[in-house]
Amino acid sequence: MLSEKLLNEINEQIGYEFYSSHLYLAMASYCYSIDLDGFANFFIVQAEEERFHAMKFFNYVNEMDETVTIKGLETPPSDYTNIEDVYAKTLEHEKFVTSRIYKLMDIAMEEKEHATISFLKWFIDEQVEEEATVKGILQKLKRANGDISIIYSLDSEMAKRVFTPPTV
Ligand code: MG
Repeated sequence: MLSEKLLNEINEQIGYEFYSSHLYLAMASYCYSIDLDGFANFFIVQAEEERFHAMKFFNYVNEMDETVTIKGLETPPSDYTNIEDVYAKTLEHEKFVTSRIYKLMDIAMEEKEHATISFLKWFIDEQVEEEATVKGILQKLKRANGDISIIYSLDSEMAKRVFTPPTV
């Protein structure tokens, strides 16, 4: 059982995770449009990860014997200036998601909801990883300063990313 407040916030979060998945697909699509297929692959994998996050919350709510409410999604932006801009916006978005997870954790702690506190810890660690990955790539893109040969070499690196569902 979850409080109404916590359940509402988790339902909102499920929406944000699915939105993240759509946002990253829109970014993948942009990457294809500028012939950076490796970066497109990075965002397709990212979109799958976000769907996995949404499902993790979805399964948790059901385990707690509560009901998930699936809501409609906003249209994500599809226009970007360049690949660096895509990663700058990704970092911005991930920071927002981190703030959302912290908000959920604050409520769970206020309510001494120990099961939810334990469940959310995984997401707190996951956000540290997400932000670090995106920051690292953004830094490389900034240093590349538009140099197409460096961007293509990063693109080949990004092509190697595969989605492996976390086991925890
Ligand atoms: Mg996520």
